[in-house]
Amino acid sequence: MKAKPCTDKKADKGRHSVEAQLIYGQMEDPLWDYSHHLLPPISSSATFRLDSAQRGAQGFTEFAHRSDEVEVQSKAPIYIYDRLGEPNKDMLEGNLACAEGGDIAVTFGSGMAAISGVLGILTGTGSEIVAHKVLYGCTYSLLTNWYPRLKINVKFVDFSNPAEVAAAITRNTRALYMESPVNPTMRLVDFRAIARIAEEANRARSADERLYTVVDSTFASPFCQRPISMGMDFVVHSLTKAIGGFGTEVGGVVIGPQWSYDRLMLYRKDFGGILSAKSAWPVLVIGLPSLAVRMRQMQATAQLVAEFLEQRPELERVMYPGLPSFPQAELARRQMVDFDGNFAPGAMIYFVMKGASAHDALKRAERFINHIAQEAYCITLAVSLGNIRTLIEHPGSMTHSAIPADQQLERGVDPGGVRLAVGLEKPDDIIKDLAQSLDATR
Ligand SMILES: *Cc1c(COP(=O)(O)O)cnc(C)c1O
Repeated sequence: MKAKPCTDKKADKGRHSVEAQLIYGQMEDPLWDYSHHLLPPISSSATFRLDSAQRGAQGFTEFAHRSDEVEVQSKAPIYIYDRLGEPNKDMLEGNLACAEGGDIAVTFGSGMAAISGVLGILTGTGSEIVAHKVLYGCTYSLLTNWYPRLKINVKFVDFSNPAEVAAAITRNTRALYMESPVNPTMRLVDFRAIARIAEEANRARSADERLYTVVDSTFASPFCQRPISMGMDFVVHSLTKAIGGFGTEVGGVVIGPQWSYDRLMLYRKDFGGILSAKSAWPVLVIGLPSLAVRMRQMQATAQLVAEFLEQRPELERVMYPGLPSFPQAELARRQMVDFDGNFAPGAMIYFVMKGASAHDALKRAERFINHIAQEAYCITLAVSLGNIRTLIEHPGSMTHSAIPADQQLERGVDPGGVRLAVGLEKPDDIIKDLAQSLDATR
């Protein structure tokens, strides 16, 4: 399925690809005299001059009133204060909405702030969230350590089994929350199947009792899938990962339907988790415009690395959506496609070391990763992903340590599991380093 073209861009008139629009996007913005800059300047003003009390009043009236009865009179946005909105963030948000094919985007100070933001506008005391049983460690911690204090109940089920999701929904359920591919196991969730369940549950509900579907699509990036086009309501990303791409900024974004814009803006204003303008700028001019070319290169490399790993006798299994052996290969081909509709399995690989016992597998994974950390040139032991450098980590003891050790295996996080985020190095260089450390730690 092709991405929705961003037809609202005046200069483009919908004739060019999404990739071209992420390069040209909103950088020529008639609302600002950036038309003579090749790139927009970094906006670095915490507060903004107001010509009159009336202009200030108008700005406050129009803020976060895009979708209701307040008539927006000003042609250019009235900027008031960075936390309410400023040019770099707003331009980036237009391009991120374009990349995901959503109505609107609102950026946040980190991926976690974005996740808190979307769940914050959808839930309140007494609400329930149904979530997939394996999630990024900090999301799991948010849902299990903090939401119970707000009396928000969270049920964990297996989203690869839609019947389990349907059975967990109650009248109080306001959000179905998932990642796909799941961090770190690479399991996929069938978006269309989950969308049908949500639609069914919403059939008898009034507008304010509706439940919404939320996908953390960070592992895929907008290049490899657009969940909104497959019936999902909201997508969140950590901009820190593939979209930022170079590992210089921390940020997050929520992309969703038009009605959610005002609520997300109000939430961000009051909880305060804004993306700094100085962090929005590199994502706007470097990260997002180069996303497609980086992802295309990285996933071609990941395919070769996964094929190499699959041949190695030390490994119990290799999970990569581009391998024919991938358990959900058919779903992957249907769901993970780039802006032109080509299969796009991404650049994340998960593999599990063999071991006589869980403890033995864990020790082997540790020995292997330590060897990489000391000896590899092109692979770095570090969390994060989507970086130009290939990164490796041990989810059980690092990114997913918030999941209690006795529950990890049941939730799919293996003691011997290793997560590899392929970067821009040449395939042979990465394979050389992997082979060296596998050989040395047999
Ligand atoms: C990193 C990550 C997050 C959190 O993003 P931050 O920018 O670090 O707050 C959320 N979800 C997934 C899948 C991630 O990989």
